[in-house]
Amino acid sequence: MNDYGIHIWSNDDFIIEKGLVKINHASKPSLLEIAQKIRATGIRGPILLRFPHLINKQIDTLFGQFNRAIKSFDYKGRFHAVFPLKVNQFPNFVSSLTTIGKKYNYGLEAGSKAELIIAMAYNNQNAPITVNGFKDKGMITLGFIAAKMGYDTTLTIEGLGELHNIIEAAKEYKDPIPNIGLRIRLHSSGIGIWAKSGGINSKFGLTSTELLEAVELLKKHDLIDKFTMIHFHIGSQISQINPVKKALREAGNIYAELKKMGAKNLNNINLGGGLAVEYSQHEHIHNRNYTITEFTNDVVFLLKEIATQKGVQEPNIFTESGRFIAASHAVLITPVLELFSQEYTEKGLRLKKNNPPLIQELYDLYKTINPSNAIEYFHDSLDHMESLLTLFDLGYIDLQDRSNTEILVHLIIKKAIELTKDKDRFELKKIQDRVQERYLLNFSLFQSLPDFWGLGQRFPVMPLDRLDQRPTRSASLWDITCDSDGEIDFNVDYPLFLHDVDLSKEEYFLGFFLVGAYQEILGMKHNLFTHPTEVTVHFDENGYKLENMVESQSILDILYDMDYDINEIQANLKQLIAQSRCKEKEKLLEILRMLLHDNNYLKISPKKENNG
Ligand SMILES: *Cc1c(COP(=O)(O)O)cnc(C)c1O
Repeated sequence: MNDYGIHIWSNDDFIIEKGLVKINHASKPSLLEIAQKIRATGIRGPILLRFPHLINKQIDTLFGQFNRAIKSFDYKGRFHAVFPLKVNQFPNFVSSLTTIGKKYNYGLEAGSKAELIIAMAYNNQNAPITVNGFKDKGMITLGFIAAKMGYDTTLTIEGLGELHNIIEAAKEYKDPIPNIGLRIRLHSSGIGIWAKSGGINSKFGLTSTELLEAVELLKKHDLIDKFTMIHFHIGSQISQINPVKKALREAGNIYAELKKMGAKNLNNINLGGGLAVEYSQHEHIHNRNYTITEFTNDVVFLLKEIATQKGVQEPNIFTESGRFIAASHAVLITPVLELFSQEYTEKGLRLKKNNPPLIQELYDLYKTINPSNAIEYFHDSLDHMESLLTLFDLGYIDLQDRSNTEILVHLIIKKAIELTKDKDRFELKKIQDRVQERYLLNFSLFQSLPDFWGLGQRFPVMPLDRLDQRPTRSASLWDITCDSDGEIDFNVDYPLFLHDVDLSKEEYFLGFFLVGAYQEILGMKHNLFTHPTEVTVHFDENGYKLENMVESQSILDILYDMDYDINEIQANLKQLIAQSRCKEKEKLLEILRMLLHDNNYLKISPKKENNG
């Protein structure tokens, strides 16, 4: 049975039971049950579910593992963490995160002025705020205001120009002023598609020469005591542990050197993010070669070793893990609208009294195929199809014959797959992309999985039900944008098999998992498809509650956000109807009004419901 690799990627957050994928928590509801509850309120289109208990789990794991390692190595520094807002700034996520993070004094990291405002408004009272990214005077001023508000604020400098501006600001604003961090440019960099943040050619950080100069400047302006942190970030989704260790050795030694140079309050090393998430749903591919236990052990052990060697105090450890904290909390549910080769059923077959001999043979293959001849017949059918298509091109057979050919070959392949079960799967797999089923999903890939579009990053996907039935169709997934890139092609390296469903009788939903990091904010409004309807699933003693529903934007809101004058749009539409010669103008206007207030996704229930 296909478990869609749930044992690889789900970290026990989700389980399969009785053919359904369920949330492995509290009353263990199925995702299907939740989706249906939301759809019962009239929502169609994609749904993004948020699970705060999974944010909680990741935060507990991060702090738990670091604190365990600190204890076991008798490490003298402490562990702190901030969440990098760029990974997910959506209010219903941030609000869960800060509430859950209170017990650990978990803070926020901001990389722009707008993010810093979120941090200043919502950070827990005594929790740290770190400010990275390129800064102008305005952003530096915001940092000073944050410090005045009482937040434990650190401005991390990306270049010497910023330091000059901070020195200026420090003259203007008296204590309390923010702490200063220096971002260091390491030789080491990560590996993978997100590795560009580290390395000597990285966009960020100070070289050794600049570090020396920065320390001189800080001393000269009497700010050296405010220098409390060094920071680095070697890239996101670091798949291997070795680059992390290399970076730590480099950073640890820089820390020790700077401390010896008189940076006496420098007590923190900030490792940035990079902790990876296992996205793979295939046995042969793994996105991460280490566990969180190994990661935390290595960090603590290496920093202890360096501090001991160099005779300096063991630094506090800061991390800014984003992906690791946020990815698992969100699941995207997409309704399947159509299967494109569903017309290939026996019903569609229109055999003539006298068929071309090859078609007759195809029909015989179809009727006599059995487990022992399945592969052979399957090969024969492909061969016949080639010949028949050539005959069509040459004008020897007609369109009806061609249609019968397509149907028969599809039926034979379906049967062959069914009959061979797991045996000759390899041979079938090779050609499965020739007979793939195209599943049309009510969502936008550009909006909801932009990293697939931009970087080819794959996310685990599976149907919400029928998990006790063998999926037989090799599937490619299409979104509803008018763009041929809005497709997840069937790929033999990452094969996806789905069920043969009759959408006129039953519904079918796919869930995309681990979409809580980066995807929402990177999402594009291609074809003006906006953020899907979101709902927070909150568990309590009595089960779960669906909270904070935010419906996908209405068409009018979308146009308003694009700076259209929506009054003008409505007036134009009204005038055009008034001027037209049609009857029932009032009725048309009423329909138009309703449609303008709908969201942009398709409002289709493929299943024919009794009441229409
Ligand atoms: C993006 C970023 C992070 C978060 O990285 P993840 O891989 O998501 O953990 C942390 N720190 C800095 C400076 C970043 O730019």
